[in-house]
Amino acid sequence: MTKQILKAYKVRLYPNEEQQIFFAKSFGCTRFIWNRMLSDKIEHYKKTKTELKNTPAQYKKEFEWLKEVDSLALANVQQNLRAAYSKFFKGLGFPKFKKKGQRDSYTTNNQKGTVAITDSTVKLPKIGHINAKFPSKVSGLIKSATVSKTPSGKYYVSLLVETVIEVLPKTGSNIGIDLGLIDFIVLSDGSKVANPKFLSKLQHKLAREQKILAKRREVAKADQRKLSESRNYQKQRIKVAKVYERITNCRKDFLHKLSFNLIKNHDVIAIEDLNVKGMVKNKKLSIAISDSSWSAFTTMLAYKADWYGKKLVKVDRWYPSSKTCSGCAHVLTKAELPLQVRSWNCPSCQQKNDRDINASINILNEGLKLATLKTVGATGLA
Ligand SMILES: [Zn+2]
Repeated sequence: MTKQILKAYKVRLYPNEEQQIFFAKSFGCTRFIWNRMLSDKIEHYKKTKTELKNTPAQYKKEFEWLKEVDSLALANVQQNLRAAYSKFFKGLGFPKFKKKGQRDSYTTNNQKGTVAITDSTVKLPKIGHINAKFPSKVSGLIKSATVSKTPSGKYYVSLLVETVIEVLPKTGSNIGIDLGLIDFIVLSDGSKVANPKFLSKLQHKLAREQKILAKRREVAKADQRKLSESRNYQKQRIKVAKVYERITNCRKDFLHKLSFNLIKNHDVIAIEDLNVKGMVKNKKLSIAISDSSWSAFTTMLAYKADWYGKKLVKVDRWYPSSKTCSGCAHVLTKAELPLQVRSWNCPSCQQKNDRDINASINILNEGLKLATLKTVGATGLA
């Protein structure tokens, strides 16, 4: 069985000087139009208490240079701003102004081949073919392209492609996953997946380079030089950005492989629905959680389960997965199981429980219960 999906491919770009100038202009114009439209909306609201329905076209007379960039890039800003506003009306925070160098990017759409690829180039509106390096074969219909520049100065284009994939066969195996404190994850089959060693090595390197950067900032300050004019500071800033980008890429790669393997080898995957934002406030857990990118991981599991015909079940985070004995369902009190206790003997059935493995078994059992309930509910409705 096949399925049509939307998949994003991140492709490294090698623009020439002229193309780099075009990109800089495009980042500048999209940032400008975002900030300008947003501030006009705010002013209008202050006066009239209604939302201003402004469009990028209205600004092209006053700011002629907006015509030099891809008009679809500006149209996408309008759409994103509208999306940000509807988020705001749902109580999810007010749209923010954009600063230069902060996620420089713009998005364009493919209109009958305006965005296209060859073996070694990506074609974009208004600028033509740009040298590119593809990490894997891109197949399918390109819907949109987002060009971005990283703080270390690398260019990428993310191509959103409509493509067809083969649904994965059922395996008859199910798995529960618990977020480990020492390991990245602990599985109900008793295995543990550690955080990759190269990541912690890179993190130490990052800390070292950041220290040097802080020193250079101090030196520039003492000499009363602007940071933008301090060559040593700028050189180090790029070095830090490069290490940071490597960490992000390595981690993403690790999470992609891990999530794919879990989806491939199991039919029902049960995880705890953690409120990571709430937990990061708890300092004891913060390092482990933000480092291990739990939420990125669960997002990948969710869309891959959907793509490949498997089932991801999220177990309520208030379910006492750690404190319940997977053998007899006896529940310990909070005082009986402090965080530092890694294994415990059940006072009721004497089973020896590894804290994390026991939790993941409970998550699996609860997840399977929920999965059956959901299926029954769905059939009942039909
Ligand atoms: Zn027990």
